[in-house]
Amino acid sequence: MRVLFVASEGLPYSKTGGLADVVEALPKALVAMGHEVAVLLPRYRGVRPGAHAVKTLELPMGAATRSCTIVDGARPHGVQYFLVDDPAYFDRENLYGSAGTDYPDNAERYAEFAYAAVEVAKQVWPPEAIHCHDWQSGLVPVLLRTRRQGDAELRAIPVIFTIHNMGYQGVFPRQVLGRIGVAESEFRMDGLEFYGKVNYLKAGLLYSDYLTTVSPQYAEEIQTPEYGHGLDGVVHSRAERLVGILNGVDYSVWSPEVDHAIAARYSAKDLSGKTVCKSELLAEFDLPANLNRPLAGIISRFADQKGFDLLAEIAEELLLEDIAMVVLGSGDEKYVRMFKDLARRYPEQLGVRIAYDDVLAHKIEAGADMFLMPSRYEPCGLNQIYSLRYGTVPVVRATGGLVDTVAPFDYEVPRSMGQATGFSFKEYTGAALLATMRKALAVYREKVTWRRLQANGMRKDFSWQASATEYGRLYEVARKARIRSAAASSNV
Ligand code: ADP
Repeated sequence: MRVLFVASEGLPYSKTGGLADVVEALPKALVAMGHEVAVLLPRYRGVRPGAHAVKTLELPMGAATRSCTIVDGARPHGVQYFLVDDPAYFDRENLYGSAGTDYPDNAERYAEFAYAAVEVAKQVWPPEAIHCHDWQSGLVPVLLRTRRQGDAELRAIPVIFTIHNMGYQGVFPRQVLGRIGVAESEFRMDGLEFYGKVNYLKAGLLYSDYLTTVSPQYAEEIQTPEYGHGLDGVVHSRAERLVGILNGVDYSVWSPEVDHAIAARYSAKDLSGKTVCKSELLAEFDLPANLNRPLAGIISRFADQKGFDLLAEIAEELLLEDIAMVVLGSGDEKYVRMFKDLARRYPEQLGVRIAYDDVLAHKIEAGADMFLMPSRYEPCGLNQIYSLRYGTVPVVRATGGLVDTVAPFDYEVPRSMGQATGFSFKEYTGAALLATMRKALAVYREKVTWRRLQANGMRKDFSWQASATEYGRLYEVARKARIRSAAASSNV
């Protein structure tokens, strides 16, 4: 199949989170299976595709017309990249906002992006399916289905919409409708309207042919009020069109056997390199070279989603234990302050780096003994999957993709030892996190059991192939369903 990906970020061009990893790895896996894939991204600051413009588009947005250029990106791994070039909208310091505030014209920026996607599908690279990601591409199906009623080729293209995170929705005042050229008639309960405002994620959920999200467990959770962020009813109403497909991992990048960012390579057969990595990591964070003391790692965006309020609650008590921790992350100021403050007070135990640093992320995955992810919610999560491969035992809250990827160890269930790969807790409380960390620290002392956990995790295979196969099947199903419904509607 020829599939056009439409996403607001993707490596090798741009990244703020896991979405960018998926938008790089999934197309690559699909192409390896024989599909043709193009990826449409905005051309943000610093993106130098070094290629030529393929098309200038005049996009009718409301009363105004906006023009942009479609630039031909490179073709890494056989994936065709196109970039939407409109410097006034995309050549900015960051992708979505600065100093913790969204750019005030995000509604218009990603409306233009959606218009451009529709024109690319029509004039530049006609696909058999369009795969949209998150709220920034939520208007694509709206434009396809409402503005082009007479356009048979566009009507025949199914849209698959993937929810990477329900917590980010693109909610704007009703007045943007005029500015983005979407008819007022779409502003209704079963359309774009969300408590008097316009919601781009809701648009994606309702106007697309099929929905996916990034783990089976999260697919269930987002149909409940606790995890639906106000859209659980909408998701539930489309439950028969929703599937959870777990994100994969690119093991050519994230594997201790081939990783050149780390101090020494190692494998499940011989973990001696991991000790070298631990030693280097402790030095990197100016922590004492105590190799017997368990070392827990954190790599994360600092956001409420990630559960650091639980850590704040119990940090002092946790640090009474014989434990060292290294933290790499950036984001919300209150967590920056919290970690810096703890590091100042516990300099022998806690090392903190406020940064986005890919190389250091690899070093933490390799050098830590355990990896902490106490997320409030987690659509899929990647770091715990990387951790498994590095023999770094994850300690997670049992939510979303963390449920689907980490098999918890349980003393009460001796059989669990055969499969267990980590530790998890359900209740979202500091007490539950602390108890689970204490359990992990105790098991760390039982060397044979710990080795078994590491070995179980390192054997796990979350490569993209299985997930890409599922997406491939879904594209086929969606195409057939769309052809049927297009035929039915033209009969009317
Ligand atoms: P999310 O998309 O919610 O941020 P994921 O676990 O799905 O969480 O993906 C996060 C990705 O971003 C991983 O590849 C992780 O290694 C990376 N990452 C997050 N914060 C940092 C950081 N400060 N430095 C380096 N990599 C980071």
